[in-house]
Amino acid sequence: MSNHLFDAIRRSIAADDAIFIETAKGRWTYGDMVEWSGRIAGAIDTLGVRPGDRVAVQVEKSAEALMLYLACIRCGAVYLPLNTAYTLAELDYFISDAEPRLVVVDPKTADGIRTIASKYGALVETLDERGGGSLVELANDETPDFVEADRMADDLAAILYTSGTTGRSKGAMLTHANLLSNALTLRDYWRFTPKDRLIHALPIFHTHGLFVATNVILTSGASMFLLPKFDPAQILALMPRATTLMGVPTFYVRLLQQEGLNRQVVANMRLFISGSAPLLADTHRAFKERTGHAILERYGMTETNMNTSNPYDDERIAGTVGFPLPGVTVRVSEPETGEILGQDETGMIEVKGPNVFKGYWRMPEKTKAEFRDDGFFITGDLGKIDPQGYVHIIGRGKDLVISGGYNIYPKEVESEIDQLPGVVECAVIGVAHPDFGEGVTAIVVKQSGSSLDEQAIRDALGDRLARYKQPKQIIFVDDLPRNTMGKVQKNVLRERYCNLYTGRTSA
Ligand code: ATP
Ligand code: MG
Repeated sequence: MSNHLFDAIRRSIAADDAIFIETAKGRWTYGDMVEWSGRIAGAIDTLGVRPGDRVAVQVEKSAEALMLYLACIRCGAVYLPLNTAYTLAELDYFISDAEPRLVVVDPKTADGIRTIASKYGALVETLDERGGGSLVELANDETPDFVEADRMADDLAAILYTSGTTGRSKGAMLTHANLLSNALTLRDYWRFTPKDRLIHALPIFHTHGLFVATNVILTSGASMFLLPKFDPAQILALMPRATTLMGVPTFYVRLLQQEGLNRQVVANMRLFISGSAPLLADTHRAFKERTGHAILERYGMTETNMNTSNPYDDERIAGTVGFPLPGVTVRVSEPETGEILGQDETGMIEVKGPNVFKGYWRMPEKTKAEFRDDGFFITGDLGKIDPQGYVHIIGRGKDLVISGGYNIYPKEVESEIDQLPGVVECAVIGVAHPDFGEGVTAIVVKQSGSSLDEQAIRDALGDRLARYKQPKQIIFVDDLPRNTMGKVQKNVLRERYCNLYTGRTSA
């Protein structure tokens, strides 16, 4: 019998008593991990879940929740984590789409979910963040010596829904080989060893916290401090005992607001990684000044795990996402014709490699449309590769503003505004405009106390951007709407300002 992913995890264990997870509640050794994921796998098996069945999971972050993930891998079930922010109406969509055999939820939401699950014939069990719940009770009665299900490289390990930034979330089918190749590549590229201690403050329903952070630790035999959520003060307090942090850009912005962030507090840290959304060059620079560390930015997505990373030894260039990872090929194509573009030419980023998913769940047409004939996946992100080979993300393919017949990439306008003194951050969107089709609209967050006003921004942009790229309106706000992964929700902004130029009262 062989289980592609879990066999490799088991081989990475340095010692049974090595620490895998430390939480406020206590510690889990690798031996505990094998025992408890085995017990939960036994419980799932007893409930009638068979290899290939989906197990949908919407629970708070906890060590037990990670044991459930590993249990699914071991019993051959397809792990299907769901964002804890999803409402019952949203869950109805995911459960009807994925048709899980079992749904594991927090006891607080179990009643509502039972009604939905029964419509689709799914069982419901519970797990809470303190490690209680009906599933854990069932696992207590199991023997720890669970035998792994036979799972090959190409078998599904997980279905992960995309974040829904550009439209309805799609279920990305990820195989055992996808997850394992990605974990081993990142482990080696970022030099993880059993001595590493990662501060894990990301959600575990997203590729970043689950397939990057958790799988890299598991295949390094390293350990992690599992925090329920991002708390900058708590992270600072842990740094002297930790070696690495993986975060979204907002983590670094918020850490920089902490007075206690200095070279001394990071003395034991060897690596700070950022991804899931663009890291501003200003943040990169400020963090380097304060701590001496150049944040390592990387680029990935639900469908492909990680594609590129800034180098470990060589220069980490702010505003770039680094080089294609070993085994991964990245190219840029002309969005309409598919013609392959050269250095420094902006187009659609395409990716091929062992990291690339098997397709969208129950969407064969969409899957076909997103792959080229030679197997490259069309990411939907616009970017370019510079002469040194660094990949730059310019923005989302769909995030294009067409104003007066001109194509405008919001990222270009955003980068100019972001650089102005007094600006914290901004988002540029296209809003329906009676004369231009769409009007370039900048939503700006300024530093508190800054005297920056609309005219100052207009004056500064005057000689930097062509006239057609200049914002028709500049709106100041206190903050930008973001989802749990720190991505700016432009759809929320577009909805909020949809009547800006048409004179109707705004929604
Ligand atoms: P959906 O596909 O449902 O619209 P989504 O693309 O936001 O949602 P994810 O798979 O969570 O869902 O996010 C991947 C995307 O995040 C990438 O395609 C890219 O646009 C963005 N991204 C990730 N890392 C970076 C980075 N370092 N810099 C810029 N953008 C990034
Ligand atoms: Mg996407």
